[in-house]
Amino acid sequence: LSGSGATVVINAHGLPYLNPALPIAQRVADLMSRMSLQDKVGQMTQAERAAVAGGGDIATYRLGSILSGGGSVPTPNTPQAWADMVDNFQLHAQATPLQIPIIYGEDSVHGDNNLQGATVFPHDIGMGATRDPGLAEQEGRITATETRATGVQWAFAPCVCVTRDERWGRSYEAFGEDPALVQLMETVIDGLQNNGNLADPTAVLATAKHYLGDGGTQYGSSTNGTYTIDQGVTYATQQQVDALYLPPYQTAVDKGVGAVMPSYSSLQILGKDSAPVKMHARTDMLTGVLKNQLGFKGFVVSDWNGIDQIGPDYKNDVKVSVNAGIDMVMAPYSYKDFITDLTALAGSGDVTTARINDAVSRIVTQKFELGLFDHPYSDRTNLPTIGDAAHRQVARQAAAESQVLLKNAGNVLPLSKTAKVYVAGSNADDLGNQTGGWTLSWQGQSGPGDVGTTILAGMKQVAPHATITYSKDASAPTAGYNVGVVVVGETPYAEGVGDVGNGHTLQLSVADRAAVDKVCGAMKCVVMTVSGRPLDITGIVPEAAGVVASWLPGTEGEGVADVLFGANPFTGRLPETWAKAESQLPINVGDATYDPLYAYGWGLRTDNGRNRLDAVRDQLAGVHGDRDIAAAVSALGRALTPGWWNKDGTVRDAKQVLGALQDATNALNRSRRDTFDQDNAVVSVARDVAQARIANGGPAAMPLTASLTANAEHALLTGRPDQAVSLLTQAYTKAGLA
Ligand code: BGC
Repeated sequence: LSGSGATVVINAHGLPYLNPALPIAQRVADLMSRMSLQDKVGQMTQAERAAVAGGGDIATYRLGSILSGGGSVPTPNTPQAWADMVDNFQLHAQATPLQIPIIYGEDSVHGDNNLQGATVFPHDIGMGATRDPGLAEQEGRITATETRATGVQWAFAPCVCVTRDERWGRSYEAFGEDPALVQLMETVIDGLQNNGNLADPTAVLATAKHYLGDGGTQYGSSTNGTYTIDQGVTYATQQQVDALYLPPYQTAVDKGVGAVMPSYSSLQILGKDSAPVKMHARTDMLTGVLKNQLGFKGFVVSDWNGIDQIGPDYKNDVKVSVNAGIDMVMAPYSYKDFITDLTALAGSGDVTTARINDAVSRIVTQKFELGLFDHPYSDRTNLPTIGDAAHRQVARQAAAESQVLLKNAGNVLPLSKTAKVYVAGSNADDLGNQTGGWTLSWQGQSGPGDVGTTILAGMKQVAPHATITYSKDASAPTAGYNVGVVVVGETPYAEGVGDVGNGHTLQLSVADRAAVDKVCGAMKCVVMTVSGRPLDITGIVPEAAGVVASWLPGTEGEGVADVLFGANPFTGRLPETWAKAESQLPINVGDATYDPLYAYGWGLRTDNGRNRLDAVRDQLAGVHGDRDIAAAVSALGRALTPGWWNKDGTVRDAKQVLGALQDATNALNRSRRDTFDQDNAVVSVARDVAQARIANGGPAAMPLTASLTANAEHALLTGRPDQAVSLLTQAYTKAGLA
């Protein structure tokens, strides 16, 4: 095969399953009736691209799927080379008697991130901070378009994990600590799967992972003495399983997600299991709950060598995992052993024909849905869109919306576009650190390497008339600058490598701490954390006028600069509780005692509250014939009473405005319409009011109200906006500021 336009003679020509006019169920049944055991076992097998080299084994073993493990990329790493590689593998699949196409999967977790030059979005912790489901859907559309253009039809994303302890090295892969927030952001699945039109050249199959409780594992010392949390044990009552970890999977299933990947971790359901059981071995959870109870119709793919942890030997791993409900086994380099063992187990009846048929029909159904039988080769039409300006614009918007303004004393932000800015810190000018793990390689890497703009370069672009000097270690003279921006944070990592204690800590590096001390000692300063999770910043917050959580914003540093210089407002909110110190972990919204540095949902805004309300009122005023909406419009009108607002659009009479907002949300809540965006705007203004007053009340007012504001956020996400406003009103009153 050379380049595009390969032609293949269809040996199976004329058979019903190749007829695109027939319903998929009929095509599946016809195909299944023609498959040998060898064909079926092959479909259940997924091998790594580097292990099958030229691809000959695809035909020899009838392999159903090939993957790129984290950062396993073709050389050169170009869109063309990817498409040629996948098409070449497909050509081998077409050399089998039934010509069943392969499905190719990779970890497109924040864009088509393995590909050099693709658009890279903020990691999901930053997307969670946006609280913007429309944006997550757009991210999914763009990721799918860029990924599928290279021939890859399947993304191992999203992680719908609920992070309960940020010592976990995968915290940044999660939307946050509250399942309701994860559910809100699962619109990324709609985007990836093109709302069910999977055969379109802009769609990929999505994978909800890692089922179940991957973010709930307990932090602790493993047998070899190092501290680990990844792949550990989640201890939870049945009620916690149902309330914390299961809801995002119900949402994913309801959205028709094509695949689910079990977690490496174990689960012990307290009061039910006598010991922890590996998720890859849990029939009750995979078949009982996921397939039967939630109604999952796609297929379950095991994680990389995930079945190998079952023991005591590989044959038993295969038997237990397939019988538990795993349909396709990711056996990157051990696919021949998997095939040998599964074939033998089928022969001895240890794995039944019914189980194998169920697994294979699930897999080939998705292949039909993706249109692979009709168009097995890559459609290269969208190659020119990879990393193009339109796609990067959306990633830039996402970077902007993901920024969380934690502190803004004296309104140090936004910066003036003609300011004299002294920039320092390890992550101001490091694209690799800003994109994090799962970017070009599994672990990611510091330094330039991908195509994109650092935060520093973004600042220079967005504010060309500002005077911007950069000194990473703050060794350059500080005299003459009126404001400093120190960008500190983490270097990239992925999975257990990033576990705290396992090579990583939540402390700033000595160099970053020194840069903060130097710059903040010399001038008014803003500290920004570029990191995959909340770090320990308790010691530096008092030194800084402004503090911003930047998360891992991706390739578009201009988005960060946009909010720094006020081209866009700060609107992001914490997706994770920000602890005072590591000793407080785990800490989560809803805890009995809750005394964080910044509560879940915290985030100051720099936009104008009055304008936000005005826009909502205008929008709702266009709705006719709904008496509750009409009541909301009138309450919003009252909330906008001119005398209750300052000239700059901030609230003057908080008590009156909060009261009217309470009425508006009550009315919206009574209405049967989907008013999430409106609720969100109303509650966010209520938050402004409460937060501004609390901030004015000084640090003493904060702990008092932290859990109330965090619970208000949770109430909004779970569809109880009236309660959110009432909690915020309580927070305000409790702070003694009424
Ligand atoms: C990770 C998965 C990933 C897989 C394939 C595993 O190590 O846990 O999230 O999809 O590798 O790269």
